Amino acid sequence: MKVAVCYEPKKPLVIEERPVPEIGEEEVLIKVHYCGVCHSDLHIVDGDWADWVSYPTIPGHEVVGIAVKVGSKVKNVKEGDPVGVPWLYSSCEVCDYCVEGEEPLCPNHEITGITKQGGYAEYMVAHGRFVAKIPEKLDLAYAAPLFCAGLTVYSALRHMEVKPDDLVAVQGVGGLGHLAIQYAKAMGAKVVAISHSSNKKETALSLGADYFIDTSTSDPAEELKKLGGADIIISTVFDSKAIQPLISGLAPKGRLCVVGAASEPLLVSPFELLAKRLVITGSAIGGRKLLRETLEFSADLGIKPLVEIFPFEQVNEVLDRLRKGNINLRAVLKMV
Ligand SMILES: [Zn+2]
Ligand SMILES: [Zn+2]
Repeated sequence: MKVAVCYEPKKPLVIEERPVPEIGEEEVLIKVHYCGVCHSDLHIVDGDWADWVSYPTIPGHEVVGIAVKVGSKVKNVKEGDPVGVPWLYSSCEVCDYCVEGEEPLCPNHEITGITKQGGYAEYMVAHGRFVAKIPEKLDLAYAAPLFCAGLTVYSALRHMEVKPDDLVAVQGVGGLGHLAIQYAKAMGAKVVAISHSSNKKETALSLGADYFIDTSTSDPAEELKKLGGADIIISTVFDSKAIQPLISGLAPKGRLCVVGAASEPLLVSPFELLAKRLVITGSAIGGRKLLRETLEFSADLGIKPLVEIFPFEQVNEVLDRLRKGNINLRAVLKMV
C-alpha cells in the first residue's frame, strides 16, 4: 500500500510502498477512500509540535473509508461498513473522563497521525471501539472533514449550550468556521460571521450567517454591540491578537470559546470579566458520543463542508497551499 511519511519536520512527505498491516482481534482494517487535510497536519509536518510528535509519522486524522477486515472481538462495525477515524485514536476507557464520554481529556489517549499511523495511506488499522460508522446519507468525501473540523466546532457549540435566538459569532470563515456557521444556524441561533477578508462575505451568508463583520474595515466589538452583543463567540482563528478585540463585543454573561490552537497568550481585562461575568474557555475535538452526534446531525440537516478534492499524490502540494492560505475551506485527499 502507498503511504505518505513525514520522516522529519520541514521536509516534504515521502510517498512509499509498505505491506498492508495485519489487524488484532479488537482492530479494524480500513481501506481509506478519503482523508481530510487539517491545519494540525501542517503543525506536525512543519515541526511546530516537535516536542511531542515523534518522527517518522504518517499524518491524517480525518479518515474515511470502508471496513475491509474486522477483528473477532469488534462488535460495532462489520465488513463493508463505511467508517471513519478522528484525531482521538483511542483512550483508556476506564478513567473518569472516559466514563463520562470526555475521552479527549483522558490522560492516556492515542492520537491518529501522531502516536498511531494516520490516514495519509491506502489502508489504516483502527481501534474497533473508536471507529465511527458513517450514516448512509453522507457522501464519504464530504464526511471526511466532519471527523476533525466538524466535530471540533459542533462539540464547542454543544459545550456552549447554544439556545435558539442566541447571537452566536463565528470568527474565521475557514475549514472550521464555515461548518460552525452552519451548525449554529441549524441549532436556531442568529449567526454573525467575522472575518478579516471581505471576500468571505458571500460564502458566509450563503451558508446561513445572518450578519457579516469585516474586521479589516470595522471594529468587531462595536459591530457586535450594535447587534446587542454576542451571547457566544466561537473563535476558529490562530492569532490571539485577532481574538482579543472581540471580547468587548460579548453581551453580559457572554462566553468566548476558542478552538484554534494559537500559542500566544490572550490578554483579558479582569475588570471586563467581572463587570459582565464573562466566561472565556476553549474546546478541542470531541469524544465518541459527540462524534456520533456530529455525523447524525450533519446527515439529518444536510450540513456539508465545502471541499476541494485532490489526488493523494499531490499531498505535498496541498500542504503547501494550506501553508499559504490558498485552500478554499477544506482540502480532502482522494485515496482510491
Ligand atoms: Zn484536525
Ligand atoms: Zn481515560
